[in-house]
Amino acid sequence: CGIVGYIGSSDTKEILLKGLEKLEYRGYDSAGIAVKNETETKVFKEKGRIADLRKRVDENFSGTTGIGHTRWATHGEPSVTNSHPHQSSDKRFTLVHNGVIENYKQLKEEYLNDTKLMSDTDTEIIVQLVAKFAQEGSSTLEAFQKTLSLLHGSYAIGLLDNDDDHTIYAAKNKSPLLLGKGDGFNVITSDAMAMLELTNEFVELMDGEVIQLMEDQMIIRDMEGTEIERESYIAEIDA
Ligand code: GLU
Repeated sequence: CGIVGYIGSSDTKEILLKGLEKLEYRGYDSAGIAVKNETETKVFKEKGRIADLRKRVDENFSGTTGIGHTRWATHGEPSVTNSHPHQSSDKRFTLVHNGVIENYKQLKEEYLNDTKLMSDTDTEIIVQLVAKFAQEGSSTLEAFQKTLSLLHGSYAIGLLDNDDDHTIYAAKNKSPLLLGKGDGFNVITSDAMAMLELTNEFVELMDGEVIQLMEDQMIIRDMEGTEIERESYIAEIDA
């Protein structure tokens, strides 16, 4: 299971698919990508191999922001519906997640009684909560922070907001996630290796931090919401 994400000026489909292929060694039962442009966020997902997913992807749709996921099912059988990315009912938010949300049933009962869930995953709760808090008036950053504060368990998350062209939101807790820095683009990835063809400059993340990734900027905030600076490092591995 793994995550990749890209924000920049190149079409993201092939970047995401190639990145996911590099993560195949981690094991998975299904995979998916979300591609976003100025108007739309489109999700393509499939059970089985990345090669199968590739056949599903609409070659004619392009976008320069995207997230991708290989799934190792923990909650809900391997199926197209349970594959990531998951979207909120209003289709505004799109999310990938590695890990396990231990209190997803309690969260559903407490906050999402009126929401019809589409999948059997623990993950869908996260994206529906972000949408709910956004509908109640929170900014996307606030809605994401509030949602994260409610989660018990492990996660690496990538999140897209269809109303915001310029940002990938990300966070981690007990699951791996790195930021990668490029010239005019930035990436997220579970493993530096998956993005080495694009960059070898990475920024480590700590549990509990919340990230806004733009094509020319990365903002890292600690649990209290304070912006922090972190030096990048050069990964000394061969692509
Ligand atoms: N718990 C989530 C699911 O079953 C994510 C699994 C993973 O890490 O791939 O969909």
